[in-house]
Amino acid sequence: MAKILLVDDRPENLLALEAILEPLGKRLLYASSGDDALRQLLRHDVAVILLDVQMPGLDGFETAALIKQRERTRHVPIIFVTAISKEEEQVFQGYSAGAVDYVFKPFNPDVLRSKVAVFIELHEKNEQLRRQAEQLKEQELADLRRESEERYRFLAEAQPEQIWTALPSGELDYVNQRALDYFATPFPELVDKGWAEVVHPEDLGRLLDLWQTALATAEPYENELRFRRAADGAYRWHLTRAVPMTDRSGAVVRWFGSNVDIHDQKRAEEAQRFLVDAGAVLAASLDYRSTLAAVASLAVPRIADWARVDVVEDGRLHTLAVEHVDPRKIELAFELTRRYPQNPEAVQGPALVLRTGRSELATEIGDEQLAELAQDDFHLGLVRELGVQSYICVPLVAHGELLGVISLVAAAESGRRYGSEDLALAEELARRVGTAVENAKLYREVAGRAQAARVLETVGDGVFLVDADGIVRLWNGAAEAIAGIARDEIVGRPLDEVLPGWERVRTRAETLPVEREGRERWVSISGVAFDEGIVYAFHDITEERALEQIRQDLVATVSHELRTPLAAIYGSAMTLSRGDLELEGEIEQRLLNVIVEESARLTTIVNDLLLASQLDSGRLAAQIDSCDPRELALSVAEAAATHLPKGRRVVVDTVADDVPRIAVDEAQLRQVLDNLLDNAVKYSPAGGDVRLGVEAIDGAVRFFVADDGLGIPPVEQERIFEKFYRLDPDMTGGVGGTGLGLYIARELVRRVGGRIWVEANEGGGSTFRVEIPAAADQLTQTGQLAASRQ
Ligand code: ADP
Repeated sequence: MAKILLVDDRPENLLALEAILEPLGKRLLYASSGDDALRQLLRHDVAVILLDVQMPGLDGFETAALIKQRERTRHVPIIFVTAISKEEEQVFQGYSAGAVDYVFKPFNPDVLRSKVAVFIELHEKNEQLRRQAEQLKEQELADLRRESEERYRFLAEAQPEQIWTALPSGELDYVNQRALDYFATPFPELVDKGWAEVVHPEDLGRLLDLWQTALATAEPYENELRFRRAADGAYRWHLTRAVPMTDRSGAVVRWFGSNVDIHDQKRAEEAQRFLVDAGAVLAASLDYRSTLAAVASLAVPRIADWARVDVVEDGRLHTLAVEHVDPRKIELAFELTRRYPQNPEAVQGPALVLRTGRSELATEIGDEQLAELAQDDFHLGLVRELGVQSYICVPLVAHGELLGVISLVAAAESGRRYGSEDLALAEELARRVGTAVENAKLYREVAGRAQAARVLETVGDGVFLVDADGIVRLWNGAAEAIAGIARDEIVGRPLDEVLPGWERVRTRAETLPVEREGRERWVSISGVAFDEGIVYAFHDITEERALEQIRQDLVATVSHELRTPLAAIYGSAMTLSRGDLELEGEIEQRLLNVIVEESARLTTIVNDLLLASQLDSGRLAAQIDSCDPRELALSVAEAAATHLPKGRRVVVDTVADDVPRIAVDEAQLRQVLDNLLDNAVKYSPAGGDVRLGVEAIDGAVRFFVADDGLGIPPVEQERIFEKFYRLDPDMTGGVGGTGLGLYIARELVRRVGGRIWVEANEGGGSTFRVEIPAAADQLTQTGQLAASRQ
């Protein structure tokens, strides 16, 4: 109800006003001062104020000014009531202070009442208008809210994702049509059962945990889970998110959620991971059968509920490996392949892939189709038990050859259905398997080659490979050693450039010379041609060749040397035995002498041969003793003098007194010196003295035998000490010999740590020297002579 504030410091005036305004039936408020009036205005909403002008304290104008200052009371109409201030100026002051009217005492009660009534009515009208305006605003707000809700729903419906909202309790209160379509469940039913019915059983536990935590903490919720799509029963991966909407106090009002289908993305990631893991497994084995077998266990359960790998053998498929998510069904799967072998004419499955070499994808296998495929009831039972809803068969190719077929089957266990993406994944898997098989084979080949190369390195024969262009590609260690050519000197270069003539060698072994470290070596080489070129093998036959030469020389020498004395003996004997010839006693005697001398020569030759053979085989025993070189030299010279040809002399040239003793087999050293004296005489056909001497030289004793004979060219000075080597092998000079004497001499001297060599004399002829270490040197080593000296 509208209120009227009466302000006057005199109670009788207030009373008078009350009496006048009573009939209006409005509530009257009284104030006895300006302050009192302001206080009343703080508490009440007032329609009009009747204000006395003259008051102690705040007067009417001052009070009005304060009222006008206040926002809440600014528009309240004020009627000044006054008895005295009738001057123009005062009236003007009242209006400027905000008065709407001025009433002078004494006043007409009716006029005053009707004036106040107008303001009351105005006030009430205003109030009514204000209330109406408020109602209108509320109405508008409600409309706005509804509209925004609708707009939000609209937005939610327009989304490609599933959108939902839930109450703070977690109960769904809205789900967009897209979600309803996906689950093919009416909203009330969905609310009733919640997500439990449509979420993959494996993901349900995690969903409940996370959702409860979110509800309890009012933190945003996020989860990846599989929702069953009603259309085909497939579980598809979704990313679910929900954020809470809170009011000013922070309390959750509602949850706003969305489910985004991330199935394809997740599948692509999984496929990628699967292929990476597959790569590791495939690389682990070099045996192609175990590589293929690994594929089955790799595929289950990640891309198949059961998998089978068949390999081609004799043009038919044989099952190599079977894997099933349910281990109990593996046996069943084997049973299936055992009982019902592949029909090569089958119009689907591995047999078809084997025939066409192309993959096969069966997205949906209905029970009717299964029944059609089954060969009999038992077969159908097995297949049903194993569960085939969808399958993929892909060919396995390596080196361009079809090795087998991988079959991936989707069964009830996972509820998966294969599509073109799965086919692409299976084909990629097959491709990688093919590569793994190829790699394994390559590796085996390489390993085989490496092994062959290692073997080649250990063989004693030189082995090398020359490619079709004549370039050396391989050169083993033995080849390096025998030919004296390092690998880098020859590999990569044409054979005819490094070893001219070798390239002509073919299957038949040939003997070729090769120079190594300035010396000639001989090799026996043969080659075998094959796809990549020619492989040659060779070995060193230098020693064999030398031995062969020696054998040939021996035969030649022996037959030659033996023939001369034998002919002489034979001739003499024949002459002596002839009965028709009267031989003089002297002739008879000469013939007998020939027989004796030639027999002795034969003996010498045979002895030399024997001795050489004993030296070669190391079977010659030596009797080492202390010996005086002086005595030995004199005694050798003396003995030689007894059988020298006429007119020849051995002169003892130098025999020093201070020659130390030596440790030798005296008989053997004597033979050496005898031989040198014999040769000196033999090879100085023009005669001349042979000089023999012995001297002490720096811890050694040196014998020498010098002649004025034919001499020996410097290039031959080494070789004359070789077995059977003679300067005049054909004996054009008429001097015979086996070529063994100097060889035997060198070997005997070497055995006592000495050496023998020949020098050319200045005026012609040669000097042979034999150096033997002084006994003291040797004694300390052998200890043999210490005793004999004492
Ligand atoms: P043989 O005398 O039986 O031929 P040797 O081994 O004793 O065999 O000698 C080898 C060769 O050395 C002889 O054939 C000869 O040509 C040469 N020869 C050896 N001694 C002399 C020498 N004093 N003067 C020249 N040539 C010699």
